[in-house]
Amino acid sequence: MLSIKDSKLLKNQCYINGQWHDADSGATLAVINPADGSELGTVPNISPAQVKQAIDAANQAWGAWRAKTAGERAGILRKWYELIMENQEDLAVLMTAEQGKPLAEAKGEIAYGASFVEWFAEEGKRIYGDTIPAHQQGTRILVLKEPVGVCAAITPWNFPSAMITRKAAPALAAGCVMIVKPASQTPLSALALAELADRAGISPGVFSVITGSSPVIGKELTEDSRVRKLSFTGSTDTGKLLMQQCAGTVKKISLELGGNAPFIVFDDADIDAAVQGAIICKYRNSGQTCVCANRILVQDRVYDEFAGKFIKAVESLKVSSGFEQGAQQGPMIDIPAVEKAERLIDDALSKGAVLLTGGKRHHLGGTFFEPTVLGSVTPDMQIASQETFGPVGPLFRFKTEEQAIEMANNTDYGLAAYFYSRDMGRMWRVSEGLEYGMVGINTGIISTVAAPFGGIKQSGVGREGSRYGIEEYIEIKYLCISMI
Ligand code: ADP
Repeated sequence: MLSIKDSKLLKNQCYINGQWHDADSGATLAVINPADGSELGTVPNISPAQVKQAIDAANQAWGAWRAKTAGERAGILRKWYELIMENQEDLAVLMTAEQGKPLAEAKGEIAYGASFVEWFAEEGKRIYGDTIPAHQQGTRILVLKEPVGVCAAITPWNFPSAMITRKAAPALAAGCVMIVKPASQTPLSALALAELADRAGISPGVFSVITGSSPVIGKELTEDSRVRKLSFTGSTDTGKLLMQQCAGTVKKISLELGGNAPFIVFDDADIDAAVQGAIICKYRNSGQTCVCANRILVQDRVYDEFAGKFIKAVESLKVSSGFEQGAQQGPMIDIPAVEKAERLIDDALSKGAVLLTGGKRHHLGGTFFEPTVLGSVTPDMQIASQETFGPVGPLFRFKTEEQAIEMANNTDYGLAAYFYSRDMGRMWRVSEGLEYGMVGINTGIISTVAAPFGGIKQSGVGREGSRYGIEEYIEIKYLCISMI
């Protein structure tokens, strides 16, 4: 049994129109603890008709929600934020249980996720319109900002809470309503958020959480013309599919897809800081984030020094259940994730890479994997072009700044990039040369509610967080007024 103080946060039903529901058919999906394979509970595998009910409810709820003042919506969202923070410990336990990340990381995610609710509650009050100098006498031009309407969100398992609030908070603050389909591996965190939304007084239908088959729910949500927008975070392949499905009804979309982050260490860098930055950037959440360093590019002159210190730091990482004191790396999400890491390592080794540490399943068994470092990795290896999503750090060697930028940009992805340098001119040249939506300079952690998160190229469309994030949920209406 999970040790949570408030047992009502552990749900086995989904939340539609302000009520808790089983599937019409009674069908369920099991939720598994990746640390030991045990079953934590079940959630409903709902029918297409129930997805329609959620859309009906959202559509009905929209009018009253948008009619509230921004201040009224902010007050309710503020309550939701406070309830999330009051229950931070329980929510973190649920997350570690279903996702595997160390409890300290889970607590951090709950606070990070809650910060979007706090931020956008306030930002909703500042959705200003415009007046534009008119094109002719006797005319006035006004720009109104209006909510998009019924929105849907499909979210991943690697951040079971924050990827929901990052979408739902700006949507609700702007006067939209939202239906969330969380990843099937991690629905419990999402349902607990729904319970707290209910307690906060978010009206029925304004925020629903539905569970079940991804393709079935995805199809219903994308084909229904009443759903005006889809916000998705997940793999590039699924993002492309959903983008196609949204074309039928020309929905607005926000996509936060895969990455292939370069982490560049120049020879003028503070090497110890670069090692620390690379460790946190690469191995947090067992390497399962879209902004994790995917390729570590190190300049020739400091390659050996960096590699030596990096390996030592990687070997000192504590691998254990996320609930153990001091845990730094928990299990991976499932066996296919482990197999992907193995495949990429095998491919690299077969093409001349060198195994510097780790490289295989951990003796703890299940989906635990050794923190791994590969040396002498080259661009022809699969790990150079694929998103690893695992605790495998491949080291590449480069000679010049131009070469580093070229290698870094040689990918279809464009989410996050990182580099370490203390040279002012280089900071500007490299920052501007990198084809990425986000660049971390002398830091391996860049996510914050205050900054716009998102990618270019095949890493996505749109931005989340910051004052830009709310624009994704706003339509512009222009009034042309003739003073006859
Ligand atoms: P990952 O590899 O991280 O699991 P996915 O893109 O498969 O990435 O999953 C991200 C989210 O997309 C999850 O909520 C998943 O259930 C959902 N998903 C996967 N396939 C589909 C689909 N065909 N239609 C709608 N949603 C999907």
